[in-house]
Amino acid sequence: MIHHDVLIVGSGVMGVALASSINSDELSIGIIESNPQPSLSRRHLSINQKSLNFLKDLDVWKEIEPNAYPYQKIKVWDQEGSGYIEFDSQEAGIDLLGHIVSEGQIQKSLIKKLETKKVSFYWNNKLLDIKNNSSDIICTTSNDQISCKFLIGCDGINSSVRDLGKFKSRSWSYNQTAIVANLKSPNIDSTIRQTFTKIGPLALLPINDDELTMIWSIDDKFAYEFLQKEKEDFLKEINVHFGENFGNLDFSTEIQHFPLNHLSSKTFAKDGIFLVGDAAHQIHPLAGLGLNAGLGDVVCLAKEINEHGRSEVKKISQIYNRNRIPVNLALAASMEAFKRGFEAKNIWIRLLRNSAFNFANNLELLKKKFMEFATEL
Ligand SMILES: Cc1cc2nc3c(=O)[nH]c(=O)nc-3n(C[C@H](O)[C@H](O)[C@H](O)COP(=O)(O)OP(=O)(O)OC[C@H]3O[C@@H](n4cnc5c(N)ncnc54)[C@H](O)[C@@H]3O)c2cc1C
Repeated sequence: MIHHDVLIVGSGVMGVALASSINSDELSIGIIESNPQPSLSRRHLSINQKSLNFLKDLDVWKEIEPNAYPYQKIKVWDQEGSGYIEFDSQEAGIDLLGHIVSEGQIQKSLIKKLETKKVSFYWNNKLLDIKNNSSDIICTTSNDQISCKFLIGCDGINSSVRDLGKFKSRSWSYNQTAIVANLKSPNIDSTIRQTFTKIGPLALLPINDDELTMIWSIDDKFAYEFLQKEKEDFLKEINVHFGENFGNLDFSTEIQHFPLNHLSSKTFAKDGIFLVGDAAHQIHPLAGLGLNAGLGDVVCLAKEINEHGRSEVKKISQIYNRNRIPVNLALAASMEAFKRGFEAKNIWIRLLRNSAFNFANNLELLKKKFMEFATEL
């Protein structure tokens, strides 16, 4: 039987970031992935300063930076009321709020980095079963049997590690589908814009001097109809719903779509099994914080494993649960309040929300706090 101290399931950003962060001279690391090769995400997303510093520490930021787009402002407004809020890096006394990057580029740079480390990849290898014996966890995969001390689920929202490890979780569907594509635009500036349309939040994020990425989380009952639309008609819908003129938009990539679900695992670690990133928690993409929150898990878990090693599995579980559950719960709760407040149909809630938003827009301290939260996950 193959043995690794650390067995990571999943080669998404979390899996390869974690493998890059654990000391492979001290601990042997394996990664199993059900795909035959790395499946590189085609999404662009926002990363905060803390994630950027982490990528710098791993010495991969220099490869990502040439295609990363810095942003200084976020503007959020509602199409139906008068609610408007703006976050500005200058107000917070910082240069930038974050960068828009290609998620696939982060994965690619980290996988390349792993070529210089002692990490074994097992492609085309799906986790099927786990059993505990007195000292190790025995994993049956579609091709092998692998024993380990730490089994780490970086296997996304439908995590097999979470299911096979019998972790309890709360989950529900947002009944929305994220429709994602890049668009050519003549008017780009360093601002993320997000508006709450009648059918769901529509965000436009600058990705370079000529292109934006669109993330439109559309209620399921309309999403199918939107996915069937001709490109010209879709572009018209963006202009109508967005309410701010971007000039001539045109698609520069194909449309992708993702079902949107919420998930919170009740615990993130037990009996030598750990959950990281989307396997432990998933939130609505309107906050642009899911990957950042997952990298926060990676930083914490890698630090504890490097510090305490293979003999302190129980202690590491306790520290990881203590550090990562509260911060992710707080994030999920604030995002739910934000989303539900914006989507409320009740006129009183809408009025309250709009005035709360305008109020918040004038409250520098509150906004500063929110920005700190978003940058320090
Ligand atoms: C539309 C959209 C926009 C987003 N925008 C942002 C943003 O702006 N900012 C931000 O911070 N976050 C954003 N996110 C969230 C972010 O993309 C995710 O949090 C991140 O991709 C999660 O990565 P992961 O490695 O945890 O999981 P995944 O990327 O899902 O990787 C899981 C891996 O595990 C493998 N796997 C699964 N099961 C098994 C098994 N049984 N055996 C072996 N391998 C297995 C899979 O094949 C896959 O490779 C967005 C998400 C969406 C949907």
